[in-house]
Amino acid sequence: MNAEKRLAIFERLAAAIPNPTTELEHGSTFELLIAVILSAQATDKGVNIATRKLFKAANTPQAIFNLGLEGLEFYIKTIGLYHAKAKNVIACCAQLNQQHNSEVPNTRETLEALPGVGRKTANVILNTAFGQPTIAVDTHLFRLGNRTKLATGKNVLAVEQKYLKTIPKEYLQDAHHLLILHGRYTCTARNPKCGECCIVDLCEYKDKVIPKIHLMAGEAMTDKSIAGQTIIENSMGVEG
Ligand code: SF4
Repeated sequence: MNAEKRLAIFERLAAAIPNPTTELEHGSTFELLIAVILSAQATDKGVNIATRKLFKAANTPQAIFNLGLEGLEFYIKTIGLYHAKAKNVIACCAQLNQQHNSEVPNTRETLEALPGVGRKTANVILNTAFGQPTIAVDTHLFRLGNRTKLATGKNVLAVEQKYLKTIPKEYLQDAHHLLILHGRYTCTARNPKCGECCIVDLCEYKDKVIPKIHLMAGEAMTDKSIAGQTIIENSMGVEG
């Protein structure tokens, strides 16, 4: 994919998603950290339901540590893998209290040293809480990178590095949330909604489903780019 196309993709995503930020509810960097740890292999929606009650009861490292393992599990038992996550959260809070004055650190190294925090979680915190232009490659970014050809790679690190190398500078800060939200609501894992997609003519996914209106309007598509792709009518009711 060339640089012009990449720029056009991010311009359109930014226009379509005016508020690219996390959907994990939080009122502080610490709450965000706990929510991100709990969100591994779980939905943001499910995490929000649990943390609304948890953060009312305890929203500092000391307060959550004081809940103890069973006390914390009471609040998060609706979330997948809650037992392992509860253990990590308690250990993480202990470390924040002992080594970081109960504050969330702002470097990759110190974040990744916290129990339950891997590269992806550290990237989310650095980007969302500390405004650093990091790219956290989750299932959505991995799928989208390989599907659209924005960033191809066999593993998350390769895809992250490709994104970092190729995303236009002005979009690096917001790219993570732009891509996550596009992947969550439009370029879904099963049945991507190509008919509603704002980058359908730019995406290089060979199995994308092109709405007829784009073809009729003669948008930048060649016969070659259309070959092998399914054509559908879109929801605007254009027939032909
Ligand atoms: S055109 Fe389809 S496959 Fe490509 S980004 Fe849009 S929804 Fe995803």
